[in-house]
Amino acid sequence: MSAVPPLNPRLAGVRSSPVRDLLALTGLDDVISFAGGLPAGELFDVDGLRAAYDRALSGPAARRNLQYAATEGHPRLRELVAERLTRRGLPTGADDLLVTTGSQQALTLLTTALLSPGAVVAVEEPSYLAALQSFTLAGAELVGVASDDDGAVPESVEEVFRTRRPTVLYLVPNFANPTGRTLTLPRRRRIAELAAEHGVWIVEDDPYGELRYAGSAVPALAAQPAAAQSVLHLGSFSKIGAPGLRLGWARLPRAVRPAVVVAKQAADLQTSTVDQAAVAEYLAVTDLDAHVVGVVAAYRARRDAMLAALAAELPAGSSWTRPDGGMFTWVRLPDDRGSTDTAALLPAALREGVAFVPGAAFFAGAPDRATLRLSFTTHSPERTADGVARLGRALRLL
Ligand code: PMP
Repeated sequence: MSAVPPLNPRLAGVRSSPVRDLLALTGLDDVISFAGGLPAGELFDVDGLRAAYDRALSGPAARRNLQYAATEGHPRLRELVAERLTRRGLPTGADDLLVTTGSQQALTLLTTALLSPGAVVAVEEPSYLAALQSFTLAGAELVGVASDDDGAVPESVEEVFRTRRPTVLYLVPNFANPTGRTLTLPRRRRIAELAAEHGVWIVEDDPYGELRYAGSAVPALAAQPAAAQSVLHLGSFSKIGAPGLRLGWARLPRAVRPAVVVAKQAADLQTSTVDQAAVAEYLAVTDLDAHVVGVVAAYRARRDAMLAALAAELPAGSSWTRPDGGMFTWVRLPDDRGSTDTAALLPAALREGVAFVPGAAFFAGAPDRATLRLSFTTHSPERTADGVARLGRALRLL
């Protein structure tokens, strides 16, 4: 008999995605999945990206683009990203940016740079699952901050800052994952002031800000004067370009840059040179803003189809968010007896051919089990309506 060597005990506190596990078990092909946060593949600019890779791998630059390169990132790509952020109202220089392998990597690098085991991380409840995983793996203690339709509640932030002294506050201020909610400008101002006053880093995770279907853009937390030196602002090409590129960026206050760069060196030395060079080529000749306009128009129609279908299909007493952008709506089913558990409903939904993510996994503290997350960007409006009708059938059969 041989003994199995131990795993890192911190893994014990990290939850896996429940829907991934269930889909692997059922193997059903005709499932309309609203579970994964998948951008619509048919909208990817395949021709533009193929041409950009071709240019990156042509002529003398090809050899440079296949070589090791600087940890901070491709200089031209950093300039182009800085220009886009500046145009969107967040003045940024190329030196403020670190290119990352998706914004998910930025989350891991930040935990390495900022958190020692036992550090407290404040997160809005509910929050992005893979950020919770990353903080937990770093040995941090998660503390929930209350949120409502206007995003994280400043009074709750203040209370947590005062009583729990967190190192980091993690927020997705635009069209949050999983709720679709947006933090209002007055709250951004207030939370920026509170972070400065209490000496807390804010991680502003913004992969969805450019996917706006109604209303007008709200200035970033990083653009609030009070928080200029305390906000780490993360962005990504995953939702405006394609997630398979695995390209993101972190806009970092000067004081944290060296630590995050060292963390990046230890993680992977650098993000793929050729991928960065190709996207720099792409941005130099393609109007990405015009591409995003097309994506936004398509996603708006899908969001509208989902919201209309929810109104027709969900039982009386259900509620859901009406996001102005992004990819998700957050549903709460009636829970008169306090026993509704969407995880227990998932097998019935899969039998009807539809998938969602039960809400419990998105909570750092006590979960609201009557909740679930639906992504509305993956399918056409027709298929979206069909999927919500299946969900309605599954709920009526119970
Ligand atoms: N942050 C949030 C809030 C997300 O929803 C996601 C993707 N689902 C990410 C970060 C990671 O995105 P990526 O690594 O593809 O940039």
